[in-house]
Amino acid sequence: MKPYEILAKHNLKRTSCREGIIAVIMAAQHAISENEIREQLEGNYDRTTFYRSFKTLEEHKIIHKIVVDNQVIKYALDNSVTLKNEHAHFYCFKCNSVQCLESVHIEKPLLPDGYVCTETEMVIKGICNFCKESGSK
Ligand SMILES: [Zn+2]
Ligand SMILES: [Zn+2]
Repeated sequence: MKPYEILAKHNLKRTSCREGIIAVIMAAQHAISENEIREQLEGNYDRTTFYRSFKTLEEHKIIHKIVVDNQVIKYALDNSVTLKNEHAHFYCFKCNSVQCLESVHIEKPLLPDGYVCTETEMVIKGICNFCKESGSK
């Protein structure tokens, strides 16, 4: 799917900034941070334009936020094929990469009466398959 097709699917207007942000995240192999997106974005957008576009994409769940800790906050594209399944994320201590583990679903927790769950988050930390292989030589 092309960035403009994703925007169309969400009934969002095409803007070069929105398309650019989606393209950068698509091209990234792992989840990437807001700063990394800004650095790789082609064209000059002022802070406000960038921030607004970014928020719009997040509100429409085109991109999702992955909070590892205070220092590491990354973003990934929602795989629309998997229909917004809540999935776990993996943080690698060695290469600092964050990945979506779409095959690892998170069960909705059973909450006491009166509590409403709006989102669940799971970040698994360890060593990724790439680092494990290159480390065992
Ligand atoms: Zn790694
Ligand atoms: Zn994810």
